[in-house]
Amino acid sequence: MEGLGVGRIVHYNPGADQPCHAAIVTKVVRKDEGMVNLTTFYPGGGTRDCHMVFADAGMTSADVGAPETPLVLYTSGTWHWPERE
Ligand SMILES: [Zn+2]
Repeated sequence: MEGLGVGRIVHYNPGADQPCHAAIVTKVVRKDEGMVNLTTFYPGGGTRDCHMVFADAGMTSADVGAPETPLVLYTSGTWHWPERE
């Protein structure tokens, strides 16, 4: 995925109809598929480490099927580039 790298600021979306949260890419797990580790920042304070998050409109953990990786390690939700105002 073009431009994806550690330190990029993205939006993390935990699920449908949920607001986006600011997040920083802490590791690019699979660049081609846009899978990353993120630290998400909540508006009221606090952070959450999200591991193996898929890009919005990208693949899902079900697509990968990755038998070598327990599905519990995937964080639900997706990330995307911040929308332009
Ligand atoms: Zn967003």
